[in-house]
Amino acid sequence: LSPNSALDVRAQFPAIENWHYLDSAATAQKPQAVIDAITNAYARDYATVHRGVYQRSSEMTGRYEAARAAAAGLIDGQSNEVVFTRGATEAINLVARSLPKEGRNRVLLSQLEHHSNIVPWQLAGYQVDAVPLTSDGRIDLDAAEQMLTEEHRIVAFAHVSNVLGSILDAKRAAEIAHSKGALLLLDGCQAVPRLPVDVAAIGADFYAFSGHKLYGPTGIGCLWGRYDLLNSLPPWQGGGSMIDRVTFAETTYLDAPMRFEAGTPHIVGTVGLHAAIDWAQGLTIDAIHAHECALVAETRAALSSIDGVTIYGPEDSAGIVSFNVDGVHPHDTATILDDVGVAVRAGHHCAQPLMGVLGVPATARASFAAHSDSSDIEALVRGIEQVKRIFG
Ligand code: PMP
Repeated sequence: LSPNSALDVRAQFPAIENWHYLDSAATAQKPQAVIDAITNAYARDYATVHRGVYQRSSEMTGRYEAARAAAAGLIDGQSNEVVFTRGATEAINLVARSLPKEGRNRVLLSQLEHHSNIVPWQLAGYQVDAVPLTSDGRIDLDAAEQMLTEEHRIVAFAHVSNVLGSILDAKRAAEIAHSKGALLLLDGCQAVPRLPVDVAAIGADFYAFSGHKLYGPTGIGCLWGRYDLLNSLPPWQGGGSMIDRVTFAETTYLDAPMRFEAGTPHIVGTVGLHAAIDWAQGLTIDAIHAHECALVAETRAALSSIDGVTIYGPEDSAGIVSFNVDGVHPHDTATILDDVGVAVRAGHHCAQPLMGVLGVPATARASFAAHSDSSDIEALVRGIEQVKRIFG
């Protein structure tokens, strides 16, 4: 995205006119193409999927399955390996609840995980071990190698940290997991919108992501799983659409992925997700990545030149810069930034254990998207100068 095309991209997002939206890691704004796809799906094309014999229903079923193929294509998986879920949270819960433990009762996570990659494992009765971070805020894979035992059923790491932006060496994580017979689940929530992902090249076993961080609607996400593995898991929710035959004595189930999609799904969510994937792939994920890397470098340089600002995470973080203004609570920072039209997130970012590791109660976080540009960074810097003036 050249500076000019960034302007073109920005104009496609009606909700950010006159606003410096730097909270795309929480949820991305939607381009007009996605808004139109959702509107048309309700206003013109709406019908249920997988049940109706009438034409419009079969067309909508075709679109639902086309969205699945697009989601699979985005991460280089196969269509039948993608389960539609409500989001990454539900995808991780599905694995945590469904995966037979096979006598291995531990899960290896890291200190930077989002709560949605911690709590589901605790609820499912796993003992959680957390790999420490390197001094610049990456998951320490040497430590992971030391910590992994044959009691670990699965290694579950964020592909990109939602707080630090650190990018995991996912291929090495897969090799480490498999060396002790464990599986690898990647939480790809922050990776999919900003990094090209190839699950086969990584050697992952499961990959979870959410549509709303990828310019699509909320309420729709994906679990990708290696087909033989996915198809070996028992269902986790029962209802319509996931069954082969139901009697009062016994029920048999469909194969994956349908076995995991009980009930009427988020039909229009899948249409919106598909439009979002097409939109991002139209720019190319590579171009979005390069664009965000340039913005991160610009932001880090600008913040480093302000006295009393601490930046967290590695230099080559993907699309995310967490920081604090010394002596100022990040909620105050974010409130003053809001006054000058800059939206950043402040808080623990659903990663309370990481805040403990960083030794802070919270951070402020600026996160970028395809529509972000230097004007956002300039406004952020002006806002931080204002914060410093107010707090003396
Ligand atoms: N993992 C990471 C790294 C995230 O950033 C998020 C969202 N903040 C989640 C998981 C949870 O995603 P969702 O709320 O869309 O299910």
